[in-house]
Amino acid sequence: MTEKLSEELQARCRALEMNLQDIRTRIAAAAKASGRLPEEITLLAATKTVPVEVINHAIRLGVDHIGENRVQELEQKYDRLERGQCSVHFIGHLQTNKVKNLVGRVDMIQSVDSVRLAREISRLSVQRNVVTDILLEVNIGREENKSGVLPEELETLLGEITGMEGVSVRGLMAIPPICEEKERLRNYFSLMSEYFIDIKRKKSDNVAMEFLSMGMSGDFEDAILCGANIVRIGSSLFGQRQYT
Ligand SMILES: *Cc1c(COP(=O)(O)O)cnc(C)c1O
Repeated sequence: MTEKLSEELQARCRALEMNLQDIRTRIAAAAKASGRLPEEITLLAATKTVPVEVINHAIRLGVDHIGENRVQELEQKYDRLERGQCSVHFIGHLQTNKVKNLVGRVDMIQSVDSVRLAREISRLSVQRNVVTDILLEVNIGREENKSGVLPEELETLLGEITGMEGVSVRGLMAIPPICEEKERLRNYFSLMSEYFIDIKRKKSDNVAMEFLSMGMSGDFEDAILCGANIVRIGSSLFGQRQYT
């Protein structure tokens, strides 16, 4: 069922095609520079404010991971997404009372930062007979009004979630502070990478440290160089966001 797209949407789809090629080339180069293969890096398209038609075009072009930030927006789009093999992630701040809208629908929740939230994901996952993959979001820059667990509380949180049924911790996620200097930015990314490797080394039962999700349009190459294997890219793929 392909409805005729407006001129504007067609133009956005064409721009996306060019942008996607460019991003893939850049990801491949950064992967190589970090001693890895391009296919070891997952490109997740951050689709907030992007119309479903354009997201579906991205999926047709082979994008196989998308992420939404807001539960309500995800709800509005979900049934019209032509998902096919594409995984849907939740990457925004999540309130406990909205977990019910995600469990069983999204493939991964990247933004878990409290026991309370994990407990609710666990409860509903068990009830709905699914296992929900999660990442723990770390407030790596210790910013006051930002989500994420503080680095020194990460291990405790991990320990508490480890025993929960219906939840599988698959890695870490972070959004570092906006940095003027690359040096400082890379320090945050490297620090995340250290936590990631450290936890991985310690290995506990239902913790499989596989994914380190960091890097966005402005800094994904730095993130890859520091060890990221999921990059979340929005505006460099879809153009500047238009909030209406
Ligand atoms: C919007 C968003 C992105 C993508 O940001 P861009 O700078 O547009 O690439 C990545 N991660 C999260 C959590 C986001 O909300």
